[in-house]
Amino acid sequence: MKSAKLYDKSFDCFIESKKINLAVKRLAKEIKTDLQEEIPLFIGILNGSFIFTADIMRSYEGNCEISFLKLASYEKTSSTGIVNQLIGLNEDLTNRTVVILEDIIDTGTTLQTVYDLLKKEPVKQLKVATLFFKPEVFRKELHIDYVGFSIPDHFIVGYGLDYDGLGRNLPDIYKLSN
Ligand code: 5GP
Ligand code: MG
Repeated sequence: MKSAKLYDKSFDCFIESKKINLAVKRLAKEIKTDLQEEIPLFIGILNGSFIFTADIMRSYEGNCEISFLKLASYEKTSSTGIVNQLIGLNEDLTNRTVVILEDIIDTGTTLQTVYDLLKKEPVKQLKVATLFFKPEVFRKELHIDYVGFSIPDHFIVGYGLDYDGLGRNLPDIYKLSN
């Protein structure tokens, strides 16, 4: 089995890039089927979702726009519960169909912050897509419209997700070894 070593931690391959690419294509199709001729504004939550956002956009068969928000709620492998907005939005969201793109939803704290922020804007509709979702630890009531993979409460890296800054460039997803 493929493995990775990032600083002091060992990781084992968990989801191969082929499966990730298929899931991303499926999500792009699901979004297009729902939104039809609407032109979505995809908002990627940095840093983790930069690859997911790029891949969703390339798979999206229709006109679409992109923007990014930067927030952070994680230090190393445990959630601090603190979320800071670091980079704001410049777009006019009036009457826009906005799709939040998250790499991973864990407790849901980050998503709730982004959602509340965007809900204050005069958007037409607000949707949420995430590549990974951990239902066991999710603590919010928010509806998640599109989910790539529901996974157990593992700490994962790769495909944009990091351990203390490293591992984002791994094409496959790896989970922390036991
Ligand atoms: P939440 O606010 O939902 O608890 O956490 C969301 C954020 O924490 C994600 O956007 C991501 O940055 C980070 N995070 C949560 N789970 C993981 C994980 O398994 N691996 C990595 N690398 N980051 C995670
Ligand atoms: Mg994130």
